[in-house]
Amino acid sequence: MGSRKRKTVVYRPSTAKVFKRFPCPHCGRNTVTVEKINKDKGTATIKCSNCLLEKTYKGGIGSITENIDIYGMFIDDFGDVCTT
Ligand SMILES: [Zn+2]
Repeated sequence: MGSRKRKTVVYRPSTAKVFKRFPCPHCGRNTVTVEKINKDKGTATIKCSNCLLEKTYKGGIGSITENIDIYGMFIDDFGDVCTT
């Protein structure tokens, strides 16, 4: 049996899978990314790929499912960062 090809419609969630880099409150580089958002468990992991500053948020995520929301909590925990 060969593989049966079907045309698949590609859905693009508008925000959920947008990977964006944010300024790191620790090292100042634009290398902070949200790695995982698990809506079912309500967890999210955010990490700086430069200085390896990392934080996992569990519970209370609720409706917060966008990278910028996780980053907001990250900044709350590690201090303000100067953004231009
Ligand atoms: Zn950093």
